[in-house]
Amino acid sequence: MNLILLGPPGAGKGTQAKLIEDSRKIVQLSTGDMLRAAVAAGSDIGQKAKAVMERGELVSDGIVIDIISERIDEPDSQAGFILDGFPRTVAQAEALDTLLAEKGKVLDAVIEMRADDDKLVERITGRFTCGNCGEGYHDVYKRPAREGICDKCGATEFKRRADDNAETVRSRLEAYHAQTKPLITYYGDRGKLSSVDGLASIDDVEKQIEEVLNGIGSNE
Ligand code: ADP
Ligand code: ADP
Ligand code: ZN
Repeated sequence: MNLILLGPPGAGKGTQAKLIEDSRKIVQLSTGDMLRAAVAAGSDIGQKAKAVMERGELVSDGIVIDIISERIDEPDSQAGFILDGFPRTVAQAEALDTLLAEKGKVLDAVIEMRADDDKLVERITGRFTCGNCGEGYHDVYKRPAREGICDKCGATEFKRRADDNAETVRSRLEAYHAQTKPLITYYGDRGKLSSVDGLASIDDVEKQIEEVLNGIGSNE
């Protein structure tokens, strides 16, 4: 099963992608995570992407298309994947159609996670992750069960993203509205789009997505 999670920053794509990974045994492919790893490694791509990401703008289509194309070829992507944060422009969506056709793969569904901007600022500014395993948390909505200790791996170091500040969030939301939102029509026109209410609780969103996924294949 090959899926896209589409939605603004903070909508809950990463949170739900991790839950789908566990339930469906398919892999999360997050271009944001890949770019942050490139920045941390100081690679050529990382050096090009760093300042752009800090401004909350989009990295060039060519860079992310190359990254995702290579990643889809890896052995762990063959059972299926969840694209999280890609595509983000119509050019990326078109390139994805081409490369999936070349690789003989199909896109099963695009799930749009709807959420309004006010709530997203709160979601993003409260976000933190485990410094060891990457598990996602939130100051209000998802605190570790034991204060300061990761539920998943027991680590005690947490981190916050450099671009998760109120000012950069505004640029990222602008980029979403101007460049990514047209993909809702793009996939709607192709009969691929389902929408869920991203403002519901994490458990409830998971259930809504489960319903969409259970419907896949039933009309094939
Ligand atoms: P995205 O990958 O779309 O940017 P995340 O999955 O990282 O979003 O979620 C952003 C923040 O909001 C995280 O801190 C996460 O724990 C929290 N979060 C995710 N989904 C929900 C939800 N349905 N309700 C409340 N908080 C949520
Ligand atoms: P979020 O879902 O919270 O917006 P991501 O981790 O998906 O965050 O992305 C962080 C940043 O990485 C984006 O603001 C952008 O600069 C860059 N980025 C990630 N994916 C893409 C993409 N597909 N195209 C262009 N830039 C991207
Ligand atoms: Zn952890």
